[in-house]
Amino acid sequence: ATSLELVCGSLTARDRVGIQDFVLLDAYTSESAVLDNLRKRFNENLIYTYIGTLLVSVNPYKELGIYTKKQMDIYMGVNFFELPPHIYALADNVYRTMLTETNNHFILISGESGAGKTEASKKILQFYAVSCPSTKLLDNVRDRLLLSNPVLEAFGNAKTLKNDNSSRFGKYMDIQFDHMGGAVGGHILSYLLEKSRVVHQNHGERSFHIFYQLVEGGEEDLLRWLGLERNCQRYSYLVQGECAKVSSVNDKSDWKTVRKALSVIEFSESNIESLFAIIASVLHLGNATFVADSQGYATLNNSPEIHWLSKLLGIPAQVIQVGLTHRKIEARSEEVLSPFTVDQAVYAKDALAKAIYGRTFTWLVNELNESLANKVSVSSKTTVIGLLDIYGFEVFSVNSFEQFCINYCNEKLQQLFIQLTLKSEQEEYEMEGIEWESVPYFNNKIICDLVEEKFKGIISVLDEECLRPGEATDMTFLEKLEEKMGGHPHFVTHKLADQKTRKTLERGDFRLLHYAGEVTYCVVGFLDKNNDLLYRNIKEVSVLHVNPLSTQVATQFKSSLVGLTEILMSKEPWYVRCMKPNEGKQPGLFDDVLVRHQVKYLGLMEHLRVRRAGFAYRRRYEIFLQRYKPLCPDTWPNWKGTAAEGVECLIKHLGYKPDEYKMGRTKIFIRHPRTLFATEDAFEV
Ligand code: ATP
Ligand code: MG
Repeated sequence: ATSLELVCGSLTARDRVGIQDFVLLDAYTSESAVLDNLRKRFNENLIYTYIGTLLVSVNPYKELGIYTKKQMDIYMGVNFFELPPHIYALADNVYRTMLTETNNHFILISGESGAGKTEASKKILQFYAVSCPSTKLLDNVRDRLLLSNPVLEAFGNAKTLKNDNSSRFGKYMDIQFDHMGGAVGGHILSYLLEKSRVVHQNHGERSFHIFYQLVEGGEEDLLRWLGLERNCQRYSYLVQGECAKVSSVNDKSDWKTVRKALSVIEFSESNIESLFAIIASVLHLGNATFVADSQGYATLNNSPEIHWLSKLLGIPAQVIQVGLTHRKIEARSEEVLSPFTVDQAVYAKDALAKAIYGRTFTWLVNELNESLANKVSVSSKTTVIGLLDIYGFEVFSVNSFEQFCINYCNEKLQQLFIQLTLKSEQEEYEMEGIEWESVPYFNNKIICDLVEEKFKGIISVLDEECLRPGEATDMTFLEKLEEKMGGHPHFVTHKLADQKTRKTLERGDFRLLHYAGEVTYCVVGFLDKNNDLLYRNIKEVSVLHVNPLSTQVATQFKSSLVGLTEILMSKEPWYVRCMKPNEGKQPGLFDDVLVRHQVKYLGLMEHLRVRRAGFAYRRRYEIFLQRYKPLCPDTWPNWKGTAAEGVECLIKHLGYKPDEYKMGRTKIFIRHPRTLFATEDAFEV
């Protein structure tokens, strides 16, 4: 087969399976054409397609048998465009570029909830685990890298309506390589865990997997020691969504995996014990109930829960009892206990449960990082490949503070994509001395600003309100938003709803026109969740020695995203764009409307246009010459001059017209793919 056939298949096959790189065909510039091509390929179980070096992936919702060791071997060390698109091809290309150029890279995996981001990141990690050099020491690092995944997923993922294994935290993981390409260590950064899930889940959703794993899979002895029954229905915090069992999830076997992973990662037995003691104490806490005494204040019976909490947390029962039912306040430099009402006590209890879980998650990530720290090649320089797998854009029927943060994060990543793709393309032309034509695109900076701008953005307004305790409410927050943002093209208030979109808005809601679509947010809980306050003595109860929070949650999140952007900006970007074929998690079903929407907001058309506007195709002179020199008697078999001169001679012989190509400093740029196709076809004649 010619390489053209390898790339596109024979013509009849191309009709059937579509084309594997959107950049390569002239007709593929319209959204419908892109959609047609994706559908064709999806129907043939070809879930991957390129736009240049960007990989588009459509979730097949079934096992395709394309992630075997044999497949990995096929893709190892092979030129990117010479094999059908695959996540392994991308992983291999990044790896080899890193080794030859000795610089840092990152792979940004994006797409909405359930599109396949986490699966993609796991496939990449597995590919490195298999393809990297192996020694006893390195194998140990590899195992830890691989096993950090099930542990983090157990504590940070949960079933939602969109995805049975939805990431409820953002994850950025660096894999460190030595100069020989051995994986020598790793580091994980986690972003804003959705803690509220611990105490509340919407109908059809679950809390974090680990709770169900422990209750379903925990050994008899362990459960007895923790005071737990093997029955999820017994735990108030596990049944809020009325869906403790999920058919696609096997909590029992997942428990075994996590348990084993924890030992390989070398968590000490005592650390593992305390970890599960804390997880169990959250469940006991959830079952604690309060009754009102004759004065209407909350009291807590000496229930079994208190006994277990006291045992597992190592705090006297008396302290817990008082702590959960009173607030400590300072009056004239004296500390006084002020009793809670039942509602306040429930609120404080939930806040404590969330705090405990949140801190445990942070602790876990720190422990993992200690275990992954590079102990192999401390002296020599390492390079890294970063994997970014963040919770995807999500829209539910009711969206709250959590969705607001998640969707804001996705706006930021889109902004980064815009900056980096346009920037890098522009820089390449500049570096190579080639003139550049700019491409119009929707810049979502306006939405990022709406959310995060200092003194003006939604987060600022939220913080302002949080600083007026007692006066401000969720509704005053909304009123301020309406006052300040009312005229913004991407902000819709209750009052203005009819003018901007036809759908009406409930009081208490505001709507943002995100780059990926409209989302209506309900303001209830915004202030509370942003404050994330724990009563002072509750902190004492929690024995976690927490510092008082000095900044609000959204602001903290914002600055951690700024930090992330800086980390990424210093590295070479690669992209995987994941798509969902349908809303029903079903194999074989390609919903045109849904996919078209994703094509639009994932910026695929813009990316394609940018790639095509200037020069669709570029190759280093050496590589171009090496491949095509048999086509010209002067360059075959050996060319004596420089590669650039050789290419010049070669294309003159092939009859390239002056407007079809440009010679850069190190690369030839070819305007239309058809030029290259003709050259490829010349092999056949
Ligand atoms: P979220 O933003 O909610 O975390 P996500 O994009 O990370 O979503 P995944 O958890 O990776 O989504 O994928 C959801 C499910 O889709 C997986 O559990 C799996 O069942 C299926 N899936 C995803 N990618 C593939 C694939 N390449 N092959 C087979 N099934 C897949
Ligand atoms: Mg995920």
